[in-house]
Amino acid sequence: MTTFRPLGFLACVQGFCCSLFLSLMCIVSLPSFAFGQGNSPSQAIQRIDPPNWWIGMKSPRVELLVYGKNVGETQVKLMPYKGVKVEKIEKASNPNYVYLTLSIAPNTKPGAITLAFQNKGLTVLRNYELRARTQKAPQGFSAKDAMYLIMPDRFSNGDPSNDMVPGFPDTMHRDSLNERHGGDLQGIINRLDYIKDLGMTTIWNTPLIENNMQKYSYHGYAFTDFYAIDRRFGTNADYCRFVDSCHAKGLKVVMDVVLNHLGDQNYLALDPPAESWLNDIALLKSSDRKKDIQKPNYRTTTHSDPYASEYDKRSTTERWFDWMMPDFDGRDAHCATYLVQNIKWWVEYAGVDGLRIDTYPYPNKTFTAAWTKAIAEEYPTLSMVGEVWVSESVGVSAYWQANARNSDGFNSNLPAITDFPMNSALGAAFNEKEEWGSGLIRLYNTLAQDFLYPNAGKNVVFLDNHDVSRYFSAVQEDVKKHKMALAFLLTTRGTPQLYYGTEIAMAGWKEQDPFVRRDFPGGWKEDTANAFTSQGRNALQNEVFNHVKTLATWRKTKSCVHSGKLTHFVPFDGTYTYFRHNETESVMVVLNNNDSEKTISTERFGERLRGFMSAKNVLTGASVSDLLRITIPAKSALVLDLQK
Ligand code: CA
Repeated sequence: MTTFRPLGFLACVQGFCCSLFLSLMCIVSLPSFAFGQGNSPSQAIQRIDPPNWWIGMKSPRVELLVYGKNVGETQVKLMPYKGVKVEKIEKASNPNYVYLTLSIAPNTKPGAITLAFQNKGLTVLRNYELRARTQKAPQGFSAKDAMYLIMPDRFSNGDPSNDMVPGFPDTMHRDSLNERHGGDLQGIINRLDYIKDLGMTTIWNTPLIENNMQKYSYHGYAFTDFYAIDRRFGTNADYCRFVDSCHAKGLKVVMDVVLNHLGDQNYLALDPPAESWLNDIALLKSSDRKKDIQKPNYRTTTHSDPYASEYDKRSTTERWFDWMMPDFDGRDAHCATYLVQNIKWWVEYAGVDGLRIDTYPYPNKTFTAAWTKAIAEEYPTLSMVGEVWVSESVGVSAYWQANARNSDGFNSNLPAITDFPMNSALGAAFNEKEEWGSGLIRLYNTLAQDFLYPNAGKNVVFLDNHDVSRYFSAVQEDVKKHKMALAFLLTTRGTPQLYYGTEIAMAGWKEQDPFVRRDFPGGWKEDTANAFTSQGRNALQNEVFNHVKTLATWRKTKSCVHSGKLTHFVPFDGTYTYFRHNETESVMVVLNNNDSEKTISTERFGERLRGFMSAKNVLTGASVSDLLRITIPAKSALVLDLQK
């Protein structure tokens, strides 16, 4: 694993220094040079993004975004370095930026190249590191996996020393739901055995990137430095250590990516390279953004709607998500490149296995499609799932999966989507009375529309997440309904995603966001209860934990659940039966949504039951010898591993 070591700033005067030795001499002898009047050397080149690059990437080019007072007025030169060339130097409309495109031959030796920024006979030198690639190819995730979603600030505090970090105004107050609670990377590392024991194989954290905002920063979606882990969570090196720790335990890591917006305290928002980087640039200068903001219509159906007005389409993609989060405009080619390279940097730097892409339909879709293609070309084994929050219809959701048969010709290139239509069906099915259009038929009807997806088996399926009511609350804290839904989640097609705490029946209505983001009990040493251990969990928590663990652990070995076919039968009399099967395995699932026990005759399932003589009840371990008539207790799921 590589570690993050930013190279120091080097400055000198009067022509180029031709060696590192000379440049070091310069910094010692004359440290006060800068381009602008009265600037210190550190202001001359404040930063270069990406902070380093790698040799031997599929694309040999990298575009450096150089930021410094009036750096756009300098002449930029590269000190000779075998294999490295400057392909292009472009001024930004803001004189504090310059775009510098390097091409790096695959046989280039790792090391630091030196860039010289020259103005009126004065020169600043800056080293830039080119590294050898050390990461293995990303493992990717699939329906073989079960994904555990964590909001890091609210999961476990493993390092109280980073709870308060100087220079970060949004501080820790555990009694306030809108402020930070101190959870961090070390906290997650400490709980990897718990996550693994639960049967999960993949961890998706909501973003860990720096959110140095005045307030409401705990959620992590307002990036203020795209290249830094938030110090309240740890350091960049800690993130690498986290990924390595996961891999050592056989767990994969999914990184949360935000392409739509950034925090208003990001240098790119405080001093944008060009007005074309951001939508609604006038809002950036408003003295009262809360009043002046025109929020998006949040109607992402406008993308696929053949009748949508241009006004409505722009209202989806060209407005700020919130007054503190300026909106990127990926139609600016440099902005698009910045966002592509940022994620290549993280994949290469930390070795993550997959990406979850936030608010996927909110940026310009030509940009997101190109972004997704560029990432997939560099990392063919990296998995990507986009948050496509459209509950209205499977068709609108399917529009966003790669190679969907869209009449407008749009291809997102996105391998997987978050399955909100299924989430919506799950939110209703177990609460409703069984009628023609309600109850279990909602699950059946949602799956029946899978023909619209090029590959529904890649969908990420979930009962809840950090943005919706916790499922246990959605089913009125009825543990039977909760367990039925979990059984469905872990046996239907797609990659199941479990939100932290759902396995211990945490409650929370989304009257406000933080109500569904409460602290995991036991994540803080002062907590009175510790749900990370069976002794610390109450009976209800253990009942649900063991239910998830049993199914998820069993699921790991069942290829028919990962990639087998799904055959289902129209719900009848309040029960819904489906099979997952391939050439060697077959699993039968029956959901009973009635308030009473049901005994069903299995005659009508003959096409799938023929040849099977017995079964094992996955949840109880009991043997089932009679498959002709099956009894299912009220409000429960029966999962049978069929045997010949
Ligand atoms: Ca902490």
